[in-house]
Amino acid sequence: MKITFLGTGTSQGVPVILCKCEVCQSPDSRDKRLRASIMIETDSQTFIIDTGPDFRQQMLKYKVQNVDAILFTHEHKDHIAGLDDIRAFNYVQKRPMDIYAEERVQEALKREYAYVFAEFKYPGIPEMNMHLIENKPFSIHGTKIIPIRALHYRLPIFGFRIGDFTYITDANFIENNELEKIKGSKILVLNALRKKKHISHYNLDEALALIEIIKPEQAYLTHISHMMGFHEQVEKELPQNVKFAYDGMVIW
Ligand SMILES: [Zn+2]
Ligand SMILES: [Zn+2]
Ligand SMILES: [Zn+2]
Repeated sequence: MKITFLGTGTSQGVPVILCKCEVCQSPDSRDKRLRASIMIETDSQTFIIDTGPDFRQQMLKYKVQNVDAILFTHEHKDHIAGLDDIRAFNYVQKRPMDIYAEERVQEALKREYAYVFAEFKYPGIPEMNMHLIENKPFSIHGTKIIPIRALHYRLPIFGFRIGDFTYITDANFIENNELEKIKGSKILVLNALRKKKHISHYNLDEALALIEIIKPEQAYLTHISHMMGFHEQVEKELPQNVKFAYDGMVIW
């Protein structure tokens, strides 16, 4: 399985528009973060988790040739705003895109993209096959996916475990029975917004405390704000089995 970080930034991305802070001015490419998304390639399938506003740019930057399915963690704009651009894949792959989302997220997509679901459709609009998911394992063409329920302040969202790999973003609380589903993951991707506490995202200390409980071989932090500090500098403070993800990072 090959994992590519398509974006590792929080909702505003890094740099933030108009921000003059030193992280936003950093020449280090790892301090440039598009909105959070990840690509998972198995032997036969390519999945993408979330299509934020940078989806088009991410598909072009990483020359993505094929997408079999898109999974959604939740309906915030920084995770769904790029969905219209699946049209390119519809056109080349000659079929609707398979979309996996829970009911509330599907309702949000139907509001945001009402024209896609209209009775009389305009030609050339995105084509989607909606698959309803709940908090129980499902499979996409033979690949087993285990949803992990997490809370994003009060909003229930999903992380996903595929084999030894677990991806969780935008969480700040996970119940013990859901934590059990993550245990045994060799690779854990977890959100960590910044050092200061936040109402709806784990901060760095909270993310590190959770990683200490899960004990993956390697953890990667994502959904990072400019307030975290410089990638290079803050990474030196992390435990040995924890790294900051950066855009374009590939793990096998
Ligand atoms: Zn987000
Ligand atoms: Zn800044
Ligand atoms: Zn969110």
